[in-house]
Amino acid sequence: MNVLIFLGAPGSGKGTVAEILAGTVDGFRTVSSGALLRDAVKSRTEAGVAAEATIARGELVPDQLIAAMIGDYLKGLPDDSSMIALDGFPRTVAQAEMLESILAANKARLLQAAFLDVPRDVLLFRLSGRRLCPKCGAGYHISTLPPKVAGMCDTCNVELITRADDQPATIENRLKVYQQQTVPLKAFYEDKGLLTRFDAAGEAGDVARAIAGDLSKWRTAQA
Ligand code: AMP
Repeated sequence: MNVLIFLGAPGSGKGTVAEILAGTVDGFRTVSSGALLRDAVKSRTEAGVAAEATIARGELVPDQLIAAMIGDYLKGLPDDSSMIALDGFPRTVAQAEMLESILAANKARLLQAAFLDVPRDVLLFRLSGRRLCPKCGAGYHISTLPPKVAGMCDTCNVELITRADDQPATIENRLKVYQQQTVPLKAFYEDKGLLTRFDAAGEAGDVARAIAGDLSKWRTAQA
């Protein structure tokens, strides 16, 4: 299994770009640590209940908790040459170290860490306009990806919500946590020769195409 890490601030488009790649590149899967946690909260698992308040404050859940969830997820995947994008994990240097053991245990190799670089004003614009369908999970943006009827999901016709952690005060906190705890990962992967920066201020489709264009190069380099 080939692993691609998506590194970037909240709102940098990691999830959107990874979903586009999963829809366009054969054998490409993606898993979002945030989505795994939100599912756990929704289904009231022990981990979900333990993580709920931390997520709502925009802080990071304990390294062990999320590493165990990602480890379990990867264990369930076929042992083949397909590609899996990790969207939102690792987010601390401790998690990056835990990932190394997870990869070894699953006979998986790390191809690259793709760093999606977006200026702060663009991040704030994206995060504050983000809306979510509570039923099907579809994402919208009030200016750039509005639903057909304001405030309603196109598919489910239920009212869209703002994620608790997309409230203005929490957005500030998430960006601060990102600076303090996740930015050091850039140097961590750069030192290993495994970091590629992508300008991600524009369209997600362009970023996905740029990453898709580098996949075979990374596969060859890590073979
Ligand atoms: P995201 O959907 O990636 O923005 O994640 C939403 C929230 O889930 C984050 O603000 C954190 O509270 C939590 N979370 C997601 N991934 C991680 C991680 N790798 N480590 C710790 N907390 C995480």
